[in-house]
Amino acid sequence: MPDVIMVTFGDMMRVPGSRSSLQKEKAQGADIRIVYSPLDTLRIAAKYPQKRVVFLAIGFETTSPSISVALLRAREEGLQNVFCLNCQKRVPPALKTLLQAERVRIDGFLLPGHVSAILGVAPYQFIAEQFGRPGVITGFEPLDILQGIGMLVKQIEEGRSEIEIQYRRVVRPEGNPLAASKIFEIFEEDQAEWRGFGSIPRSGYRLRDEFKTMDARHFPLAVEPPLEHPHCLCGEVLQGVVSPPDCPLYSVVCNPENPVGPCMVSVEGTCAAYYKYGNGGRGLEFLEDENPTP
Ligand code: SF4
Repeated sequence: MPDVIMVTFGDMMRVPGSRSSLQKEKAQGADIRIVYSPLDTLRIAAKYPQKRVVFLAIGFETTSPSISVALLRAREEGLQNVFCLNCQKRVPPALKTLLQAERVRIDGFLLPGHVSAILGVAPYQFIAEQFGRPGVITGFEPLDILQGIGMLVKQIEEGRSEIEIQYRRVVRPEGNPLAASKIFEIFEEDQAEWRGFGSIPRSGYRLRDEFKTMDARHFPLAVEPPLEHPHCLCGEVLQGVVSPPDCPLYSVVCNPENPVGPCMVSVEGTCAAYYKYGNGGRGLEFLEDENPTP
């Protein structure tokens, strides 16, 4: 649509869609801009009042409060040309779906520190109470991860299932209630589609009725249902049923330069991490080359 400027975070640019990506569409001439804060959308909208400026809202509970504040401010400032294409997700319902999967092989969770800074501990209690699995809210530095794994193993050895916090320098047990409440000033819970899992109830958001005029999904466009690569095993990888190299596309077809599935896109993705730290599936060969047998 020529009168539309699409605005989003940088890590969305390479995410593969059914037929293309934002990066490829930008190369073809689409007006797609990367921002570091959702509030930058307002600046662009004020500069181009004749354009419809669509913020592709994506992320988990970490980013949802700032997206909500930006949209609320757009309303306060009377910016009529700011729209939201909402694709945000909620973590706890997805974890519950994972645990309910028949083949799931997950013994415990390293829970995301950034999401938990907003949510706190309470939304994860079902992991321990209903499913008997331990969880540790963990930070992102190597020492955080090691300590988080150590705390998980200790719980398993001691036969405990609790939600503990390793990332105490950021996460408080009660989270950040003020930030969390901002989300529900503009959004309400809704079902959402997850690649590899399908639709999960209450795992996303929709704009409240008062904000429906900001919803880019009301643009008169025919959008085809998304296509997933038939051989991508992201769903199984996330359930712990297979490891990334078990995927027939891993490394040769799907790699960080050319991601096919979402697990290969960001550095936090399971397949991307496996690729990076396993040296593209050749980690052991690499180590042997570095340390030749005498
Ligand atoms: S290697 Fe690529 S295609 Fe295979 S599961 Fe991972 S992301 Fe999906």
